[in-house]
Amino acid sequence: MTSAPPRTAAEFAAAWDLPMRTIVSAPGALDALPAAVAELLPAGELGLLHDGTAKPAAGGDVLDGVRDRLADRALRSVTAPAGAHGVVLDEPTVRAAVDGSRGLAGLISVGSGTVSDLGKAVAAELDLPLIAVQTAASVNGYADSLSVLVRNGAKRTLPTTWPRALVIDHDVLQQAPDALTRSGVGDAVAAWVAPADWYLANALGLDTGWDEDAIAPVVRSAQGLIDLDPAEPAALAGLVDVLTVGGLAIGHTGSTAGLSGVEHLISHLLDMAAMADGTDHDLHGAQVGVATVVSCALWQIALEELDLGALAPADLVPPADLEQRVRQSWIDLDPTGRVGSECWTSVQRKFATWAANRSAVEDFFARWPEHEAVLRRLAHPPRTPAAALANWGAARTFSALTPGVDAGRARWALRSLPYMRDRFTLTDLLLLAGRWDDALIEAVLDRAAAAGGGL
Ligand SMILES: [Zn+2]
Repeated sequence: MTSAPPRTAAEFAAAWDLPMRTIVSAPGALDALPAAVAELLPAGELGLLHDGTAKPAAGGDVLDGVRDRLADRALRSVTAPAGAHGVVLDEPTVRAAVDGSRGLAGLISVGSGTVSDLGKAVAAELDLPLIAVQTAASVNGYADSLSVLVRNGAKRTLPTTWPRALVIDHDVLQQAPDALTRSGVGDAVAAWVAPADWYLANALGLDTGWDEDAIAPVVRSAQGLIDLDPAEPAALAGLVDVLTVGGLAIGHTGSTAGLSGVEHLISHLLDMAAMADGTDHDLHGAQVGVATVVSCALWQIALEELDLGALAPADLVPPADLEQRVRQSWIDLDPTGRVGSECWTSVQRKFATWAANRSAVEDFFARWPEHEAVLRRLAHPPRTPAAALANWGAARTFSALTPGVDAGRARWALRSLPYMRDRFTLTDLLLLAGRWDDALIEAVLDRAAAAGGGL
């Protein structure tokens, strides 16, 4: 017997045999919370993890709505204080939330992406069962088993744990700030380019687990971001689907890499720069959206103009001054050198892996036409994400972010792409080829600008 292919998030979770099966995504979904708690969390005191910020919902605040629905349970409030940058998941913040959660029988996170990531980190640390109540369609990270945490001033994606259930009340999402929803669109459009970076890393033998079946449904559903009118409830439901199935695909493949390539690196770099110099930065997804147009432009130029297939594997070596470049990228922002050292450790690992993979690299170039065809399918033109961002009124340019990212910082972020972490992307290949330079970066920004993005 063949069953119908999965369509809803819950059907994908079942098809992929994921630990998170209970996904209630609908208007009024909060009403399903008591049953999920009764079924999935043990008796005893439960923690309500939140950031202390009021979140309006039909009939009052979301947190009050959760408390009312769980009036028969002992609840302990665990607050992760939001600073100027929202909640920053650095070491002290995670430790405080872990300490505040000791002795609980289970945990319920109520909030947007950062609170959800913190909930997964606390639940993993204390081995607590977790239910996530999602209050915004702002990122795809609600439906996976990873958290983005700050370690030594650098953003790192670390394995944490699956929530047992995810409750997505569309009435709550509808009332979330528009900026959060637009940020979700930005995070979702990464599906039009990130898979190309992941495929490249896999094809070069630098990553494993390439799984187009996991990524394809996310890319397919992203089309709704262009086709649907955001004024219609169906558009929000469509956005939630892209994000939730995207999160599940990340959890299923065990890595964010399938939906996090150059565009996410740019966003992480902007976050790290703002953290280092104490300035403000826009939401994760807002930055990812802008950066996706740029990354699509880079891929388009690489596939149309750079003749990648003609690169000779023997010539692909890191620049002799690699360590200096990595440290130099950070020294103005962090004169202590701590961030530079953290990044150098990762970058060193990346290129050591590269050096140990000569035969896979040679094989890659020997079969270039086959790889090129796949890459052309995975890397969409910059006008595609730009159209989705425009449809939702989301930022397409660095200067349209809140606060605006000036041209100097945008160029710094692009230049620094190979110098931040160990995940291999197109920019690493171009660095090895001696092609990742200011001239190419300007060409990429111009190409993005032609699609309505860029600076
Ligand atoms: Zn993201």
